[in-house]
Amino acid sequence: MQSTPTKADGPQKLLLYDPLTDKGHVKRTDIKDCNVQRGPGPLCYADRFKWPERCWGKLSDDERHRLCRNMRKLCASSHMSGCGGMELILDQILLLVNKQTGEMNNLRCVHACDSADHCQNILASMDARHRPKHIHKALEDRLPLELYLELKEMIPDGHVLIDAQRCAYRRIKEKLFDFFDRTPHMARSSHCVVHGTDCQLYSNDDPDGLTSDSQTRLDYWSSDSLSINCAGLICKDVSRESKTRRGDAGNSALAHLIWTAERRSENGQEDLVLVDCTVDFDASSIAADLGQRYDVYQTTVNATDMGDKYSRPRAMAPMLNQERVVTSDVC
Ligand SMILES: [Zn+2]
Repeated sequence: MQSTPTKADGPQKLLLYDPLTDKGHVKRTDIKDCNVQRGPGPLCYADRFKWPERCWGKLSDDERHRLCRNMRKLCASSHMSGCGGMELILDQILLLVNKQTGEMNNLRCVHACDSADHCQNILASMDARHRPKHIHKALEDRLPLELYLELKEMIPDGHVLIDAQRCAYRRIKEKLFDFFDRTPHMARSSHCVVHGTDCQLYSNDDPDGLTSDSQTRLDYWSSDSLSINCAGLICKDVSRESKTRRGDAGNSALAHLIWTAERRSENGQEDLVLVDCTVDFDASSIAADLGQRYDVYQTTVNATDMGDKYSRPRAMAPMLNQERVVTSDVC
């Protein structure tokens, strides 16, 4: 059975699935396609908005138990947060759990970030129930200015051959990974538009967020939370519909590399990570950089799965922390 983690015990594994039925941790190094067959959507307009109840109805008693247990202690952060889609979805799920259990659990959305002012404004205006406690700006904002300027100098002009750009971003990646390895404390805070000052980036239990560097990694892990990070990668560099598509050498490459370097560093490793992108996205690039720490999966979901009339398939890459998560299956 799972015990409450303590500082003395150090990092503990979180059981996503019921210990009685769990078959143990299965390490996977290959991308696993976990598409599943989904049933037809709702038959009337009003039912389109009842997806939490629909999904609840499909769960077994054990699965409902797991969902309730994990939602109670969920600690969420998002990157490239957009208009707060993850926060809204988690809030809908928690409302359902509270309704089913008669409890009054609150969601802990800790960090969000987005480079667009209007997205920051939307995130800040969300209901207090699921509003992120800290809202940060662009990912580049968390790098020391000197390093940021150095990396910008390394990015070639957009008109050069894509191979030359790719080569430049490979060098940038090496520099970033090296920076996070050597000086993780240098990238642990970022300006927060909520508090108007630099706030700590990686703490689970830091509601005021005004401490700079006092919490250690052990403090982070020892909180009895299930931490999740959701990242909406910028689709323009991946989608076949985009005229400016340049893949891993596009305008979003630097932000993506900073996100990767964080997840690769000791400070930024959540229990669960969920990457969302266009269906042309291939998670093998993430697995190449993060496969030593996470089991990486890839699946496709569609609005039609929830009964919507239009088809908009999206790639989802769930990633499970190999040290922290025990599961027999992800789907
Ligand atoms: Zn803050």
